[in-house]
Amino acid sequence: MSQVEVRGFQTEVKELLQLMIHSLYSNPEIFLRELISNASDACDKLRFEAVSDEALYEGEESLRIQVSFDEKARTVTLSDNGIGMNRDEVIENIGTIARSGTRAFIEKLGQDKAKDLSQIGQFGVGFYSAFIVAEEVTLTTRRAGMGAEHGVRWVSRGEGEYSLETVDLPTRGTTIELKLREDQAEFANDWRLRSVIRKYSDHITFPIEMLKAAAPSEDGADTAVVPEWERVNDAKALWTRAKSDISDEEYTEFYKHVGHDWEAPLAWSHNKVEGKTEYTSLLYLPGRAPFDLWDRETKQGVKLYVKRVFIMDDADKLMPRYLRFVRGVIDSADLPLNVSREILQSNRILDTIRQGSVKRVLGMLDSLAKDEAEKYSKFWGVFGQVLKEGVGEDFANREQIAGLLRFATTQSGSDDQKVSLKEVIGRMTEGQEDIYYIIADSYAAALASPHLEIFRKKGIEVLLLWDRIDEWLMSHLSEFDGKKFKSVTRAELALDEEAQSATPETKETEGALVERLKKVLAEQVDDVRLSKRLVDSPACLVTSDEDMSLHLQRLLKDMGQNAPTVKPILEINPQHRLLTRAAAEADDARFEDYARVIFGQAALAEGGQLNNAADFVQRMNRLLVS
Ligand code: ADP
Ligand code: MG
Repeated sequence: MSQVEVRGFQTEVKELLQLMIHSLYSNPEIFLRELISNASDACDKLRFEAVSDEALYEGEESLRIQVSFDEKARTVTLSDNGIGMNRDEVIENIGTIARSGTRAFIEKLGQDKAKDLSQIGQFGVGFYSAFIVAEEVTLTTRRAGMGAEHGVRWVSRGEGEYSLETVDLPTRGTTIELKLREDQAEFANDWRLRSVIRKYSDHITFPIEMLKAAAPSEDGADTAVVPEWERVNDAKALWTRAKSDISDEEYTEFYKHVGHDWEAPLAWSHNKVEGKTEYTSLLYLPGRAPFDLWDRETKQGVKLYVKRVFIMDDADKLMPRYLRFVRGVIDSADLPLNVSREILQSNRILDTIRQGSVKRVLGMLDSLAKDEAEKYSKFWGVFGQVLKEGVGEDFANREQIAGLLRFATTQSGSDDQKVSLKEVIGRMTEGQEDIYYIIADSYAAALASPHLEIFRKKGIEVLLLWDRIDEWLMSHLSEFDGKKFKSVTRAELALDEEAQSATPETKETEGALVERLKKVLAEQVDDVRLSKRLVDSPACLVTSDEDMSLHLQRLLKDMGQNAPTVKPILEINPQHRLLTRAAAEADDARFEDYARVIFGQAALAEGGQLNNAADFVQRMNRLLVS
């Protein structure tokens, strides 16, 4: 037998183990759910790999998970005949190296006073939940297809290090023995284990077995009875059952399993599709965002099965990126069992399934929006920004996705995004042809923009946008229900406007003012014009229809990309006191102070920055004190 090697955990794993060991967690039974879920994954993996290499079965094809206990020794043992692990995999997966979710999980617990450890599975660190109940964990494993001499034994008390040893293991798979802490001895009990298994793991598709309670033999001798294993869970793939036979509790429990979530989903849709392509889908909308929602590499999502054999977990093949929050399973009757990732890359059956599933999800969102407004607004709050990506990504469904968007507007009265485009169209004023919007850095900045003044005056509703993705969103959204979208910061506004200035004299003064401003600000602005949109503010900046908006230029610069610097157009409100004063100013130096202060203000109101703040302040102060 080989030597025992002792290794240390990485700092993050140590921290996590400390949390486990010292938690006074009120729901310790979840350790069983996590370990059974791992055992079930291991069986799935074996079945998948064995499709192309039958030898991996080593003559034993019936996959199962067994749970046993020893009350006297205070142990609980879980054993699966799944794929198993080799030495490197043990080190990689449950040893030294912290997995990507470890840090996120520790941080989450740090914030969460309730210390809800049951979230552990979602972060990909479920194995460590063993230490909630165990003072020592012994894992022995051998990878399917390798010789008996390649077994590995891993032992740890969760205190910073573990030992590793090569052992002989004639059977493949993984066995985990938990030496329970004294205060967790209750788990070494038949009734307790069975009820926890039924509660959390009924939907696991492999049999979970426990030993039959040994019936006392008649003559009192207890040697004759060989204990028999019996199945404890239902072990039937939930999605293959008839809808009418499945209770909401069962749907919810299954969601928690496939979604790695601990809360109930918002909604689900279960469908058997028959015809040219046959498949079953069970798709869920979660009520909360996973920790890696914004991580480009996330792998969770919808699981693909072929005739109930798990094939893969890869989200993008079955759902577009903008629906990456959807969880569930799709089980195809038509794909070959030995599909490879390469085949799936371009496969007509899969394309059909994907299109159909996207329709299901959008349909589910439509009916949620229609019938359960409260749930929909919860959905929007969590995933709205992700759904917005769909407007640019999914051309075929753009109109339907646009119908699902929710906005804050000048009439909604708060930064809650809850107004649909349909409502905005329904409230359009007489003669209004377009849907107006403004994009700013924040809700407050959007609401305070001088550009909105004329719209307020005319009672026209304007969409207020400030999410990071909104520039991109609006660049892909040009029409909805036959109405065009128009930015209120664009130069050409199709608002018929009564002439603002009346007499020929005022016209002349205004013309002269415009010319003087143009001369002073030639470097900063492309043009100076009389504004049709200002009511209370002295001036604002607009961009021409072809140019990139000022907001987008700023965003790109913030992200370190070069954006072309486009000179804006300065629009002035000639009736404003500041402008009438400037117009009356004979001294050229003082006029320049006015001009630069007016331009600087307009840039600031826009959320922009001043190129020379000190100069602006000096000029403003000169005007204020004299
Ligand atoms: P997750 O299951 O989310 O990946 P866990 O912490 O529960 O995270 O498990 C970590 C990894 O350890 C698994 O991804 C798997 O590779 C490995 N593992 C755990 N239990 C088993 C098992 N019973 N058989 C084979 N591999 C396992
Ligand atoms: Mg797990």
